[in-house]
Amino acid sequence: MLSCKNLRVSYGDIEALHGVDLNVAAGETVALIGVNGAGKSTLLRAISGLLPIEGDILFDKTSLRGNSPERRAGIGIGHVPEGRRIFPGLTVRENLEIGAYVRRRTAGRKDDLEEVFQMFPRLKERHKQLGWSLSGGEQQMLAIGRALMGRPKMLLLDEPSLGLAPRLAEEVYARIATFKDTGMTVLLVEQNTVLALNVAARGYVLDGGHIIMHGPADELKHDPRVRDAYLGR
Ligand code: ATP
Repeated sequence: MLSCKNLRVSYGDIEALHGVDLNVAAGETVALIGVNGAGKSTLLRAISGLLPIEGDILFDKTSLRGNSPERRAGIGIGHVPEGRRIFPGLTVRENLEIGAYVRRRTAGRKDDLEEVFQMFPRLKERHKQLGWSLSGGEQQMLAIGRALMGRPKMLLLDEPSLGLAPRLAEEVYARIATFKDTGMTVLLVEQNTVLALNVAARGYVLDGGHIIMHGPADELKHDPRVRDAYLGR
């Protein structure tokens, strides 16, 4: 479904991604792991159209070059950015409704809201509360729910565990683990390698803007290089 081909991204004179090749098949959950500054968020921002690229990105076999971020959202790329960026002064429900605006048609919005509430019952309980009053884990669920309201074909998740206590991170990941049952395609960026490789079918390791390893998540988990560098043991 997604294919990055020799992808290069620069900030001014400094190149952050040095020719990345990465594929995600329809319905697959793929993890992109790596330390701070490896270029993980840069890759997601490039896919969403927030950064200019060299090389190419294909989505459903069609090049995304020249497509605005709005167009990419409209054709099914849902981005949940690092830090969640929910609207603190809007209610939970209003935050979710904003996510539906990437779609032109209004039909089915109510059903989508119900689906999100089913997936995240805590959001339903709190639908009248303002965004800022949610816990970190609930805000992460809201950010994911907002992206789902756009009916994406693919979700780009940027560090969903960031800043969450371990129990809350696990709760968020328990939901992410269910996405493959719904047929959703997911590209997941994480510094928490254990959480990411537990839900993903495959993984890529990004280091200094290069993909240095990729393979089935189970193999990566047991690879001594991954264990030493990213699993802290
Ligand atoms: P983190 O988890 O810390 O966000 P990351 O793997 O997502 O790490 P990126 O944020 O993609 O890494 O950063 C990759 C490189 O690009 C880093 O060297 C970073 O300093 C640089 N970079 C990121 N954003 C910018 C920017 N807006 N301007 C200049 N350089 C940037």
